[in-house]
Formats: sequence, structure tokens, C-alpha cells
Amino acid sequence: SRADIHYFGAGPAALPTDVLEIAAQALLDFKGTGLGIAEHSHRSELATNIINEAKADLASYLDIPTSDYETIFMQAGGTGEFAASVYNLVGAWVARQHAAILQELGDGDEAAVVAALRKKVESDLKLDYIVTGGWSLKAYQEAVRLLGPEYVNLAADARTINDGKFGKIPDQSTWKLSKDAALVYYCDNETVDGVEFPEFPAILAPKADGSGPIVVADMSSNILSRRIPVSNYSLIFFGAQKNLGSTGVTVAILKKSFLPPTTVQPSAPLLRKLGLPIPPIILQYEIIAKNNSLYNTLSIFDVYIAGQVLKKLLRTYENKVDGQQAVAEKKANLIYSALEAHPDVYQIVPDKSVRSKMNICFRVTKNGNVDEAEKSFLKEATALNLTGLKGHRSVGGIRASNYNSIPLEGAEKLAKFIDDFAKA
Ligand code: PMP
Repeated sequence: SRADIHYFGAGPAALPTDVLEIAAQALLDFKGTGLGIAEHSHRSELATNIINEAKADLASYLDIPTSDYETIFMQAGGTGEFAASVYNLVGAWVARQHAAILQELGDGDEAAVVAALRKKVESDLKLDYIVTGGWSLKAYQEAVRLLGPEYVNLAADARTINDGKFGKIPDQSTWKLSKDAALVYYCDNETVDGVEFPEFPAILAPKADGSGPIVVADMSSNILSRRIPVSNYSLIFFGAQKNLGSTGVTVAILKKSFLPPTTVQPSAPLLRKLGLPIPPIILQYEIIAKNNSLYNTLSIFDVYIAGQVLKKLLRTYENKVDGQQAVAEKKANLIYSALEAHPDVYQIVPDKSVRSKMNICFRVTKNGNVDEAEKSFLKEATALNLTGLKGHRSVGGIRASNYNSIPLEGAEKLAKFIDDFAKA
């Protein structure tokens, strides 16, 4: 039964049972209304309340400075955000250049303004990507696909320092950052490769006067597990299906200065004249923000589950995300220590300095036959109700996802099994 199993899957991940019990009841009959939460209108007051409460609880848990940041719920997953981040921050870059050109030329000669803007785009538009694993690679590839390679700069590629494989983060001094990039993108935790940034990359930190690079981070698989310096980012996004809730909603935390009235996205006709792609309306942050995430039909059920997860975290940890972070570190240390105790049996995939606390990736090299050893590792683990440990299909191996819903005893049980398996 559910109570016997510890599920270490990478996403969708296990959700707390008490949250699911509340959600199951809400699905049948929400607060005695006779209608389930998935049946109520997304335009109802109760839907709006669910959205606003989830936003407020997220802000409280992560200490998001809400005077400067807007949180929106979207629907296209982390993958949708690969595109949304490109569209919206290229749009913001164009808006800035457009304003500067209007200052210089005035708005009398529209054709001259467009020509100057087009020239500026062709000479200066750059998006920087720090590629440290499969997901940042996908984001980079999406930017290239949408814009063309001339606008996209592979500022760092971790494979070049690690025999063509992911597992390290290139030294920041080697990153080839562009001047005034429309964005600098990185993935804080690479779910497939088990590589996590140990801290915010100092080279991207804002200067004393507040200026600095426009930093975008994918935090799909480590959000809510550690404190983040929100003010260093222009955009943070994450799918819900690991630490936040069920598959179906994606969250973007966006600096308000990228929204109207400060920034207004360029019109479709202008983008067409500049040869730049026109974003689908559903990926436009300003449209979603203006409508408090309800431009179109949003799954309020999924927002509700996320909201209940946040309420549980806030109930459990008086010091909010710091409390959860301490637990996440403790659990990760237990598992890594068990692996490290048997270097003849286990090989941890990423370099020690960048080991993920969320996705613990390793190979089982016992007796030299990795395939066989990993098969028996998985079989014996499953027999002990330790499930979901198979590595991503693209890299193989074993992956223990140590998300927030894994209790300490789950990590202890896994660490003990790792030790027992090595000794057997
Ligand atoms: N980024 C990261 C770090 C992920 O782990 C994933 C999914 N596992 C994605 C992006 C893609 O998310 P989605 O499947 O929601 O598009």
C-alpha cells in the first residue's frame, strides 16, 4: 500500500498523503458546495481565492519581495518556459532598444526608427546560455530553434571540461558572457544529470547600483528545497510536479519591471518587421499577469494542491524554507555518505562540488558488470518498497530523487539498503 512505499521518482514525484486526502475530498465536494474543485468555474471567487492564497504562501515561504516580483501560474510546463523566457525577455530587450532609439530619433519617421531598431537587433541581440545538463541544453536548443543560432550564445558548456559528459560546472571565469544580453540562462538543478549549482553564481550578481545581468533560472527540480536570493533574478520558473504539486501548472516569478507600465512587449507587426518570432498569447507574461493567471482556463485543482503543499510546509517549518533546506541537506548527506563508504561498489556521477541534493545520480559498479549490478540493485530495492530509482532513459544508472516529500525515514531506509547491498 501507499504507506509502505518510498517512491524516489524524479517527477511526477510523490506528494504528501495528507495533502492528497484533502485534495481527494475537494475533488468530490469543495467546502460543502456540492461541486468538486475541478468543476467550479475558474472565474469564481473561490478560484481567485485559491490562486491568491497560493501566491501569498509561496511568497511567504520563499521570502519573495512582492513589491518587485509578480508570480503567475501557467500551463505549458518547464518546456513551455524555455520558449516563454525567450519570447518575453527578447521582447523586453527590444522594448528597451526601441525606447532608446525613439529618444534619439524622435517618433516622426517610423520607417527610420524601425530600420535603426532592426540594425540594433542584428548587431547586438544576444541570449547567453550556461549549459550544465540535459535540461539547460534543451532550453538552449529551443532558443536556437526560435531565434536562429546567430542570436544565441553558448556561454559555457559543461561537457567541454568533462570528457563530453555532464557532471561539472565550468569555472565562472571561463563563461563567455555577452554585453547587455537579453538574458543569461541557467538551470539551478539538472534533474537528469544530478548537477546543482552550490550557490548563486557570483559572476551574475547585481552590482551595488542594482544593475547587472538579466538572470533566468529553471528551478523545476529544486524549488522549495533551499533558500534563493530572489532579488538576483529577473525570472525564476518551475513546473509543479516535483516539489510543489501535481503536473499541470507551471510557476513563473518575474521581476515587475519586465511588465507594464515599465515594459510593454513589442507589437506583433513590429516583431514581424524585425524578423523576430511572435509569441503565442498564452506565453506572454504581461497577459497572464494582467489577468492574475486567468487569461484562459487554468486548472484550479492543480493550484489547490500546490497551495496545500505550501500550507503544509509553512505549518511544518517555523523558519520556512531554511527549515526544509536543513532537512534536505541531512537526507542528501545520508545517501551520499552511504555511497561514498563503498567506492568499489558505487560511482557517484557528478563532481563532489556540484552534487545535487535533490537528484542523487550514481552507477553501481559491483563486480565490474554495471548492467547486471544495476538490475539487481533495482530489483532488491523494489522488493524493499524503495521504488522509482531507475535513472533517466538518456543516461541510465540509478537516480534517487530526494524531494521534499521524502521523509527522513525514507532516506534512512535507502541509505541502509545502499550499505547492505554493497556488503552482500
Ligand atoms: N526543467 C527541468 C529541470 C526538469 O526537470 C524538467 C522535467 N523533468 C523540465 C524542465 C521540463 O518540464 P516539463 O516536463 O514540465 O516540460
